Amino acid sequence: MTGTSEKVAVVTGGSRGIGRAVALLLAERGYAVCLSYVSDAGAAEAVVSAIEAKGGRAVAVRSDVGVETDVLALFEAADRLGPVTALVNNAGVVDVACRVADVTAARLQRMMTTNVVGSFLCAREAVRRMSTKHGGKGGAIVNLSSVAARLGGPGQYVDYAASKGAIDTFTVGLAREVAAEGIRVNAVSPGIIDTEIHASGGQPDRVARMGPDQPMGRAGTAEEVAAPIVWLLSDEAAYTTAANIDIAGGR
Ligand code: NAP
Repeated sequence: MTGTSEKVAVVTGGSRGIGRAVALLLAERGYAVCLSYVSDAGAAEAVVSAIEAKGGRAVAVRSDVGVETDVLALFEAADRLGPVTALVNNAGVVDVACRVADVTAARLQRMMTTNVVGSFLCAREAVRRMSTKHGGKGGAIVNLSSVAARLGGPGQYVDYAASKGAIDTFTVGLAREVAAEGIRVNAVSPGIIDTEIHASGGQPDRVARMGPDQPMGRAGTAEEVAAPIVWLLSDEAAYTTAANIDIAGGR
């Protein structure tokens, strides 16, 4: 891959689920996309191939968002595509159902390191590149929160919900910190979306079980989350910052 693009987006966890849908839509809208993954290289390369088949530019980088050196390498790969103008802090994990009384330190470390520390580290790298204070030309960041932040995840994953509560506060704080430096920071809070994350939390039937009980009578799709994310990154959302949009079918 040679040359640089005007619009470059970093999408963490862009190999599957919501991140994949975001990467594909961003490419359609003319962004060069640098996407990360941790374990499934085949899925990541398939997204790159799909983008390239339509004439777009993309690169996949194995990069654990919770490992600082990996994050630095991810952004160095993005720099090779052109100046980074967009970041989607999408990578996130759940865990199997567990009451707080039974939680382990190792589980908490993994959850907070991936969902919270990872988002901070990626945002730091993005701000260093985008901020007019650092010689950048501005940009936009979207963080993936969850309706779990307000529901609390009792009996299931209070730790996950709390990690998303941290993302909500992070979004407001960072948005106001860099608002005058050309960077907008927003969050989206999906409800039940049909991806493989539920299986990774030991509940492969969660969408089928809970979808019909949602106000709209169904779960959402990854594409239905990707569209508002891509809008938040666009100039159409030029005066929107520190916002948090529920994408939860009324939940
Ligand atoms: P998913 O289908 O499980 O996909 C997760 C993606 O993140 C994969 O590309 C995975 O890569 C990557 N990933 C996992 N750990 C990573 C790490 N440490 N560093 C870098 N990448 C990592 O998840 P999803 O359902 O699309 O969820 C995406 C985001 O939306 C998450 O933040 C999640 O909390 C949030 N969300 C989802 C829902 C929902 O119902 N699906 C609802 C609310 C919020 P590999 O393939 O290599 O593992």
